[in-house]
Amino acid sequence: MERVFIGLGSNLGDRAANLRGALDWMRGRRGMRIIRVSNFLETPPWGLTDQPPFLNAVALIETDIPPLALLDSLKSAEAQLGRRLGERWGPRVIDLDILLYGDAIVEHPRLVIPHPQLLNRDFVVSQLLEVDPDIVFPGRGVLLRELC
Ligand code: ATP
Ligand code: CA
Ligand code: CA
Repeated sequence: MERVFIGLGSNLGDRAANLRGALDWMRGRRGMRIIRVSNFLETPPWGLTDQPPFLNAVALIETDIPPLALLDSLKSAEAQLGRRLGERWGPRVIDLDILLYGDAIVEHPRLVIPHPQLLNRDFVVSQLLEVDPDIVFPGRGVLLRELC
């Protein structure tokens, strides 16, 4: 089993219900177990700033699903939960990102882990540290909390 951190975000509709819906989806999944979830945190939009504020969370799960299969699975969950295709960083019902996957480093055309914007987003770092203050940042051999 790998320890995987998932970033959840929503800025359309009932945002808390959307985050809970995504967590329920994970709970019902074979090969996936939720270990801890951060508080839900309201954050200003990032990248495209002319849109409603987000509600964000980070979940620590244990899974044996390999990274690309997990990405596909999260994308189908986004669709099931009502996400429509839109512009990158635009408004969405639910966004599910793989932030960290054990100590894996992935450089694939469809998947980059650690998530490329992780260290640029203070709210993601703070929610990761809320879930686990002792995260070691892959590849760098340093504690996440010492990188910021
Ligand atoms: P950001 O990735 O900067 O948070 P976003 O979440 O708005 O932006 P999306 O439109 O949801 O971006 O996804 C665009 C593509 O990013 C996905 O189709 C996926 O292939 C790719 N991607 C690359 N790395 C990751 C990752 N670690 N987690 C989720 N998607 C990823
Ligand atoms: Ca995202
Ligand atoms: Ca995404």
